[in-house]
Amino acid sequence: MDLVKKINDLADLLLESGKTMVLTGAGISTESGIPDFRGPDGLWSKVDPMYVFHAETFIYRPEVFYEAGMPLMGPLQAAQPNAAHRVIADLEEAGLVWGVVTQNVDGLHQKAGSKNVFEMHGHLRSATCLKCRHVIPWDRLAEMVAAGEIPPRHQDCGGVFKPDAVFFGDPLPPDFYDCCREVSESDLLVVVGSSLEVSPVNYLPQLCKRLAIVNMGPTMADYRAVLKVDAKAGEAFTELKRVLQERGVRLSGSAV
Ligand code: NAD
Repeated sequence: MDLVKKINDLADLLLESGKTMVLTGAGISTESGIPDFRGPDGLWSKVDPMYVFHAETFIYRPEVFYEAGMPLMGPLQAAQPNAAHRVIADLEEAGLVWGVVTQNVDGLHQKAGSKNVFEMHGHLRSATCLKCRHVIPWDRLAEMVAAGEIPPRHQDCGGVFKPDAVFFGDPLPPDFYDCCREVSESDLLVVVGSSLEVSPVNYLPQLCKRLAIVNMGPTMADYRAVLKVDAKAGEAFTELKRVLQERGVRLSGSAV
């Protein structure tokens, strides 16, 4: 089935749905220049994320993250949203999407204009002292690391600063349970750019009434999807915007 037919089917699903949630993963941001985990140029080919980004590694050897993981964070800070992020923000503004649950820490949905964003794996806007919970902005953390303070410590209490991203083995933020409720109350969940291998976020597709997936390659929930679009997210959402506009849906926001 060609892309245009599939995107028309996705438009049907969106227009029929009373409430739609979107669940995104690293794949939505590859077209913004950020490598995913499991793709061919993925982070997995450079470091072992399960070690470098593991909560236990951070507790016992925080320098591992600051030496091997922190240098990989630069591109995430500099990246700009792509067509998929922008169209999802336009769909929220038009009332066709209620909110976005993201596994990404890159903040690109907010940069694109999405308002209802649940960041399941935290973000890179700040870091928190593990001893006294003092919070500093990311730029301050980056300055300390660039000055050779590894691991960076809070000068008052000596505690180590940890980025406000969720590491493997960390608990999820409490709003994971709000997301479970929002998804189970939705008529449609659209997964974009995730292999759905990371739990417990990959539990969300089990909760929705209808599931559509836009992903290059297989995912763990393909068997449940009423529609699978195997295409680049940017291409698929550019086409979705065109199809919806052709059907008279007013989508404002930034041009794709
Ligand atoms: P993943 O790497 O396991 O899966 C990404 C999927 O997206 C793959 O199936 C890949 O083939 C597909 N993909 C790649 N480019 C695509 C594109 N342009 N269009 C459509 N599909 C595309 O990612 P995941 O499921 O999100 O799990 C990885 C974990 O890594 C997450 O927990 C996330 O927090 C973290 N992570 C985040 C970022 C980020 O913030 N941008 C980057 C890397 C990893």
